Amino acid sequence: MLKPDAVKRRLAGEVIGRFEKRGLKILAAKMMVINKELAETHYGEHAEKPFFKDLVDYITSGPVLATVIEGEECISMIRKMVGATNPQEADMGTIRGDYAIDTGRNIIHASDAPDSAKREISLFFDESEICEYVLPDEELIYEEP
Ligand code: UDP
Repeated sequence: MLKPDAVKRRLAGEVIGRFEKRGLKILAAKMMVINKELAETHYGEHAEKPFFKDLVDYITSGPVLATVIEGEECISMIRKMVGATNPQEADMGTIRGDYAIDTGRNIIHASDAPDSAKREISLFFDESEICEYVLPDEELIYEEP
């Protein structure tokens, strides 16, 4: 999910482009303004953390671009491409390392495990919004498509 700072800074295309160029497949993408309830559910695991209120205020402060992205080992690959939570600690060449400065403005959320991906996708998308299709160059991306 491209967070409101990414959308407002016009970085959404740039970031999605990195995933596309890597060979990953976009199955769904939707601009939306997240309401407080959805934000609190999405970030429920952080409910007791001191930054929770600011996080909810931030993620509801403007439109996000929610996406579903598919590819082999895609969760760990995307987490590596995204970089550390604190952009100051993120390696150069990662999305946060290249485009962000503050933890509370780190431009992108990425699911951290298959279970959380499943849960988060169901929070943001109906099944009918997720497009299944074959990329014509899959044999150029994968040894065994
Ligand atoms: N966050 C924050 N302050 C902190 C830690 C986290 O504002 O000290 C925010 C930040 O936007 C982060 C989000 O809470 O992306 C979720 O935190 P998590 O530890 O799950 O990091 P992520 O998986 O996004 O790297």
